[in-house]
Amino acid sequence: MPRSDSRPEPRTTVIGWQGYTVSVPEDWTIGAIGGDRMEGYLRIDGTDMPRMEIKWFDRKGPVGIEEVVGNYLRDLHRKRRRRDPEVTTKRDTRLLGRRKGGRRQLESFHWTDGDRQAHGAAWQCAHCERVSIVQVLGRADEGLEEEARELLLAVADHPEDGWVTWATYGLQCEIPEEFVLDGQKLMAGLIDLNFKLETEQIAVMRWGMADVALGDKDLKTWAQKELAGRLKSWECTFEELEFNGHPAIAITGEPALFQARVRRFVLHCLRRPYGSNVRSLIWHCQPGKKLYAVECIVDDSRLELPAEICQRLICHS
Ligand SMILES: [Zn+2]
Ligand SMILES: [Zn+2]
Repeated sequence: MPRSDSRPEPRTTVIGWQGYTVSVPEDWTIGAIGGDRMEGYLRIDGTDMPRMEIKWFDRKGPVGIEEVVGNYLRDLHRKRRRRDPEVTTKRDTRLLGRRKGGRRQLESFHWTDGDRQAHGAAWQCAHCERVSIVQVLGRADEGLEEEARELLLAVADHPEDGWVTWATYGLQCEIPEEFVLDGQKLMAGLIDLNFKLETEQIAVMRWGMADVALGDKDLKTWAQKELAGRLKSWECTFEELEFNGHPAIAITGEPALFQARVRRFVLHCLRRPYGSNVRSLIWHCQPGKKLYAVECIVDDSRLELPAEICQRLICHS
């Protein structure tokens, strides 16, 4: 949408979580998360206050979206404490068209408590059937409608090509849909996203302030020390190479323990996948002043996957 004045477009960043991707102003970050892929919650904070909330649940078959919105707004009243200001709600505001972008029976809503306001929408995706309740928050005296419409329209509630975008604090990676999130650390100094599929695992890690993290160590010594705990039951080799013009260390490993080797043999005989190979890449992104690691424990059939995850990761622009 063209702007009436000549101010530059604000810089945006992508936030990706549990199949959602949303493009938001650059200084917005994940403020709270809960639940899992089936049912969960994501809050995105601006510098001054929470700015966006997404709630979701998966449902097979159609749901009554009027009832979903009704329950949601009723909860706002119910959660209000005695001294809190009264909440005024408005339904079916038509902020977004009713069937916008493959969304089944969408309803827009608005509420305000005098201090804050929110423009929101609930819909069920015609493609993946996920039910989303998304609201954009602001102060009551802000002109919020236009920004809310843009943000709500840009929410994608499912991945397009089997790769789920996970993005926060400027880290953006893509992980195959069948791997589920198994844990995360979201700190300024370290982001660590862990995924798993039975015995197979993927971890994507990013350390801020690379020079401070490295200290006087070279990358290989640092990687050996940093990952020692994670790799203690593996026999690994560390090889220095270059990745996207960055100094990098490739780690290749196989199970050190006899029991794990036996289990690998048995599962191979049963033709079941088994995470029996370590394939990791660690690199120092000098332009971005960060260290990255993609650590994969994968079956023989997925030996190409680690390289593809590294290629899809955006480490600097
Ligand atoms: Zn969908
Ligand atoms: Zn880089």
